[in-house]
Amino acid sequence: MHIGIIGTGYVGLVTGACFAEFGLFVTCVDRDEKKIHSLKKGLIPFYEPGLEELVKRNMQQGRLEFTTKIARAVESSLVIFIAVGTPRRGDGSADLKYVEDVAKEIAKTMNDYKVIVTKSTVPVGTGKKLQEIISNNLNEKIYFDIVSNPEFLREGSAIEDFMRPNRVVIGATSQQAIAIMKDLYKPLYLIETPFVITNIETAELIKYASNSFLATKISFINEIAKLCEKVGADIHLVAKGMGLDQRIGPKFLHPGPGYGGSCLPKDTNALLRMAEEHNVKLNIVEAVIRVNEEQRDYMVTKIREAMKELKGKTIAILGLSFKPNTDDIRDAPSLHIIKEMIKEEAYIRVYDPVVTDKYRQVKEKQYENIGYSILSHKNVKYCKDPYDAVKGANAFVIVTEWNQFRNLDLERIKNLLKEPFFFDLRNVYEPQKVRDKGFKYYSVGRG
Ligand code: NAD
Repeated sequence: MHIGIIGTGYVGLVTGACFAEFGLFVTCVDRDEKKIHSLKKGLIPFYEPGLEELVKRNMQQGRLEFTTKIARAVESSLVIFIAVGTPRRGDGSADLKYVEDVAKEIAKTMNDYKVIVTKSTVPVGTGKKLQEIISNNLNEKIYFDIVSNPEFLREGSAIEDFMRPNRVVIGATSQQAIAIMKDLYKPLYLIETPFVITNIETAELIKYASNSFLATKISFINEIAKLCEKVGADIHLVAKGMGLDQRIGPKFLHPGPGYGGSCLPKDTNALLRMAEEHNVKLNIVEAVIRVNEEQRDYMVTKIREAMKELKGKTIAILGLSFKPNTDDIRDAPSLHIIKEMIKEEAYIRVYDPVVTDKYRQVKEKQYENIGYSILSHKNVKYCKDPYDAVKGANAFVIVTEWNQFRNLDLERIKNLLKEPFFFDLRNVYEPQKVRDKGFKYYSVGRG
């Protein structure tokens, strides 16, 4: 079978490469010519472990190709996935402009029966909207089906998540489309992946409800962490004690500077707006968003209170990406923290294993309005490693728990710092051990 993927970003490229690995013929499309040019040479436009080898192998074996022309994918494919971005608009709702543009283009070049699948995270009702858009833009009467097939992969472990998902959700009304989708995902049937087959609206909502629930767990544990600090409890043991209850589960109960990334902040806000449009008030989701925003501010407050003031101080920031093993800084807590510190006239020395200065310069041109501008501020200096970052700084802050920050040479760091302030926003280190080394150590939710 031949399939097309429109939008070759994190989701589109991983989806395309993984389906090619399943033995399908895949045409990946993107309107970004530079991206397609690089991909044709086997160069991956972002950081995702294992993806480069997967892409190269499938290109060499003739199952994966890249183009800027939607028509090429549409003509040759039975199934067309839409995997373009659905960014947050000013009012919090999801911007469907890219999805709708793609739908129109697909319609104009459709030559035969197609299954058109939304892989992008889209608000409930989008499937119906696409049905109309495509019908209205067809050159001739052609039968087609719409399917919602939300994606749950996590950046940093995207290939494993795609190849071994917890579940596959398929929303469709047409039995023919469901049968085709099942056929696509046949390799996952063999490993007994659960399939949830439902209508389009339910599938669309499953994605938002899942992400909002994950965000709820994070905001919940962050609030409890705040309380731990006041009452002398240890958040890690509270989380462990809670997580051992199988009704709760241990995942997403790690305190920190709040959630970030390209999905949770955007999707919680979009769910809230979606519910408002239907006159439903989602009190919990509203609180989750507010707690997350407060948590970021609270991190800055914590640092300011410990250091008395930030003005004129130099702060070393370790980690920019919203989590380890990705270069994605969309809505990353690091950006908010740096912005607030700069407002207070602090100087920042940053180090991230992937988001380097060179990387920023390239990405800044590709992505607008996602925060690279704050990283170009004159007060921000990029450093070559963690030790370079802490040189002469008044404090250092672990914002993202990259593995290479887990075993830092603390003696060396202490000698390089001007003052021994250590803010561990991911609770990577053992408080007593670090304090014994002479650091003024602050973490989250540990007394
Ligand atoms: P992305 O920004 O990395 O990629 C989107 C791509 O679409 C870009 O390369 C862009 O150039 C391309 N594009 C936009 N308009 C186009 C058009 N008209 N024709 C062809 N290409 C076009 O986005 P992403 O992170 O891959 O997210 C895509 C969708 O998947 C979003 O709805 C997101 O919410 C959802 N999602 C993302 C993740 C994740 O971890 N990134 C996980 C699950 C779901």
